[in-house]
Amino acid sequence: MRPTVVLASRNAHKVGELRAILVGALGDAVEVVAMDDPAVTSILDGASIPDVVESEVTFAGNAALKAHAVADATGLPAIADDSGLCVDVLGGAPGIFSARWSGRHGDDAANVALLLAQVADVPGEHRGAGFVCAAVLAVPGSADVVEHGQLRGTLERAPRGTGGFGYDPVLRPDGDERTCAELSAQEKQAISHRGKAFRALAPAVRTALEVV
Ligand code: IMP
Repeated sequence: MRPTVVLASRNAHKVGELRAILVGALGDAVEVVAMDDPAVTSILDGASIPDVVESEVTFAGNAALKAHAVADATGLPAIADDSGLCVDVLGGAPGIFSARWSGRHGDDAANVALLLAQVADVPGEHRGAGFVCAAVLAVPGSADVVEHGQLRGTLERAPRGTGGFGYDPVLRPDGDERTCAELSAQEKQAISHRGKAFRALAPAVRTALEVV
């Protein structure tokens, strides 16, 4: 088996996106597998990886909890991320609460509607915001490696576009007239917070797995 790193996510869409970024940066010298891949479950020998309560108050803290749950259970290097939307005029909120801002976890439409209402009277020049991602590599017996990525832009007043997820329809990246939900998947990945954080983490993965 090639040197292996485990992605600490059960979200198939996210795993596909992150694997593409890492394989793009590292080539096929490294095996990038999901935590529910048979190669991982066979190591666990019937045990399971515990569900993580995201009890930390930073993206990096929560990403580290997720990465360690997998690295500790499998003995393999593991990568996790945590991300959200940070609005300048709200002091960085919703931040780590992005997925449950409206009180209902994962209700994108309600989260977006509440956020837009909260900043309804904020003028255009003060509507700066950004997606932020922390990516953490946890290697058994080594110190964690943490990288951040950001996608800066402006909050629109109404959702636009059908692509993406979450707050994509209301964030217009700097230098573009379109919202993130109007970009192709490739265009988004090239500028996204996750793309930047994971590409920055790739050299540490290469070193940890002793791939030259
Ligand atoms: P998670 O890191 O996948 O748990 O994402 C947390 C939440 O942040 C998501 O549920 C979305 O609301 C928001 N979010 C993170 N990344 C993005 C993005 O690329 N587009 C839109 N919303 C995002």
